[in-house]
Amino acid sequence: MVKRALALAAFLALAALAQGALKVGVVVSATGPAASLGIPERNTFLLIQEMLDRQGGVAGRKVEFVILDDASDTTQAVRSTRRLVEEGAVVPVALPGEPLRYEAAGAGHHHHFLCRGCGRAFELPGCRLEADLDLPPGFSAEDHEVVVYGRCPDCA
Ligand SMILES: [Zn+2]
Ligand SMILES: [Zn+2]
Repeated sequence: MVKRALALAAFLALAALAQGALKVGVVVSATGPAASLGIPERNTFLLIQEMLDRQGGVAGRKVEFVILDDASDTTQAVRSTRRLVEEGAVVPVALPGEPLRYEAAGAGHHHHFLCRGCGRAFELPGCRLEADLDLPPGFSAEDHEVVVYGRCPDCA
């Protein structure tokens, strides 16, 4: 259980765009049985926050970390993740047959690459698909999703 909570926490260290400030949503186990790992994690994010504040943010934008504690509990990790979604810090990504993942908000339409070696998902920038669609007369496209399966450079 603790191991799963930790994996989830590490996975949620995602950056997200808000208006103006760059919001980074993070769930760590700052209390409970996994606190010996979660506290250094949280402190690292606070240190990064300090460094970024001192250098004036990233590309002129202030970086704001939203750090939530899951108390080393999977249920609490899920609850905290929902809060990050509500606050616009992350958005859910549903890839077919995969557990729900989360990524930066505000990235706009893009596709995903799922590595069959390590199971990691990557965001693929850009999309030219709708321009190339040859739909029969009377059909109009509203949305689409593309998942490319393969191997990432680490697993090739
Ligand atoms: Zn891989
Ligand atoms: Zn597309």
